[in-house]
Amino acid sequence: MPTFGFHPYPAVVFQAANDLAYFHATTVASLDSQVKPHEYAPADADYNHPLPRTWSQSMNFNLHATDGAARAGAITTAHGTVETPIFMPVGTQATVKGLTPEMVRGVGAQIILGNTYHLTLRPGDELIRDLGGLHHFMNWPHPILTDSGGFQVFSLAEKRKITDHGAEFRSHLDGRLLELTPEKAVDIQQNLGSDIAMVLDECPPADAPPDVLRNALRRTTLWAERCRAHHTHPTQAQFAIVQGGLNLELRAESAAALIPMDFPGYALGGFSVGEKPEEMHAALPACAALLPATKPRYLMGVGRPQDLLIAVAAGIDMFDCVMPTRSGRNALAFTDTGPVKLRNAKHKRDPAPLMSGCDCDCCRNYSRAYLHHLFNAEEMLGPTLLSLHNLAYYLRLMREARTAILAGRFREFTETQTRGWS
Ligand SMILES: [Zn+2]
Repeated sequence: MPTFGFHPYPAVVFQAANDLAYFHATTVASLDSQVKPHEYAPADADYNHPLPRTWSQSMNFNLHATDGAARAGAITTAHGTVETPIFMPVGTQATVKGLTPEMVRGVGAQIILGNTYHLTLRPGDELIRDLGGLHHFMNWPHPILTDSGGFQVFSLAEKRKITDHGAEFRSHLDGRLLELTPEKAVDIQQNLGSDIAMVLDECPPADAPPDVLRNALRRTTLWAERCRAHHTHPTQAQFAIVQGGLNLELRAESAAALIPMDFPGYALGGFSVGEKPEEMHAALPACAALLPATKPRYLMGVGRPQDLLIAVAAGIDMFDCVMPTRSGRNALAFTDTGPVKLRNAKHKRDPAPLMSGCDCDCCRNYSRAYLHHLFNAEEMLGPTLLSLHNLAYYLRLMREARTAILAGRFREFTETQTRGWS
């Protein structure tokens, strides 16, 4: 079976690695007139957008331009439009940790991700539904994507048992015995009221043997059918997830089974689960090309800034990752000249901003010396300011990538940006 010339590797996730060998020549395709300027001011809250009550009209995707395989587009949901390529900050427990929704919006976030597993355990999806849905509950009146809970069940929950029926597991919070079936994953996300919901899938680790990968793929297809059949939310779009690890044959099989189900969008799951970054980079162009060109393509759980650019070059539109906020909480900042560790003593007397030229509140108002002090004193403002900067950095990277794609100079943009990081 073709495996891109790689064999399963032990978990080595964040090694420095990037080459653009899979970057293809730029070709500007049709531009249309629907490109809108970015809007950072929060739009008026609109929790009950009157969209037609058919699922197929729950979301639109317009492709504005392509540059090689890279795409610039726009996804219109019940709670607003998202310009792609886009990074989605992760709001695990109905909060992007350490930041108010206003701060998240202020750095240009257009859509955030909520975690089904965490929210159904606490405070409960029915409670959130009864209090007006997730948008209202957390005061984020803009688009939200929710995952299916599967990834957390497989990575966090205890004593899990997975059958074709679903997953049985114990809560990592209180040991309660719970069940997550495809139907339940749909019900929970419908209660949360997200704009984009994900089907339940089984996501094996990168070094899983072929028979495990194949069985996960079979089950993912079966579960996608059941999720599709059970879904009734009028303004929520449901995305399918292509699995298959680093095996192109399995990826193609998975895509071929899911595409006839005509989901409004397609994701690549099973990346950033222990393979080397360069293995993922090598696999992405072929995997992205398996997905429908007319629908959004979402690479789940990835990654570092250089991973995002390589994936955009491969034709991916959407990303989520805890990296900018988790790193920010741990005093690690992303900049144009590479990562900066604010705990390092060399910053103790440095009056310079974290990153000159960055217009975020952290870089405009505070010195490296002050940030170093905040982390040294374990003040909560340190994680807040660095999370803010890192999200600003990721979101600006995607905006600039989009601008470059629209102008037909994405390759030059990526080369310049990558030189700074190396
Ligand atoms: Zn900044």
